[in-house]
Amino acid sequence: EGMEHHRPSDVMADTIPLVQHLLNKAEIALVINTPSQKAVAINRTELQQVFINLIVNAIHAMPEGGTLTLSVLDADDGIAIAVQDTGVGMSPNVLARIFDPFFTTKKGEGTGLGLSITRKLVELYGGSIEAESEAGTGTIFRVSFPEAGDV
Ligand code: ADP
Ligand code: MG
Repeated sequence: EGMEHHRPSDVMADTIPLVQHLLNKAEIALVINTPSQKAVAINRTELQQVFINLIVNAIHAMPEGGTLTLSVLDADDGIAIAVQDTGVGMSPNVLARIFDPFFTTKKGEGTGLGLSITRKLVELYGGSIEAESEAGTGTIFRVSFPEAGDV
């Protein structure tokens, strides 16, 4: 028995190859800043799903290229993860609804389930998620987790 422990920096590193072809195709530069060695008590596949959902959304927001910045940093009270893009951003009206199940602005393409599932998974493991965005400038998603008790 016992909960798995994983370092978000390791899971982030494993996720990048899965999206590298999308980054190349959209001419998106990748900046990675993941020094944290802290671990989270979480299922590895579910943490990877969280990262993929946020990264694929960021890529969709940058159809003309841009920069994707991924960070995993130590925080006083745990681990601070951020996925930042220089994409189209969101209006306050859209931003207010992004975690609603089935809310999407991707006509005929999106399921609108990615972020609602992402938030459920993050909260299941004691974390929290928030987004800041400015139309025409970009978006940052911040995910925080408590550090696992022992690794
Ligand atoms: P889907 O990707 O299927 O539309 P999500 O739940 O992943 O569903 O996202 C919901 C909506 O949130 C998107 O349709 C989009 O309008 C907005 N969104 C999410 N991430 C970003 C982002 N990085 N930049 C701009 N808009 C975003
Ligand atoms: Mg999505």
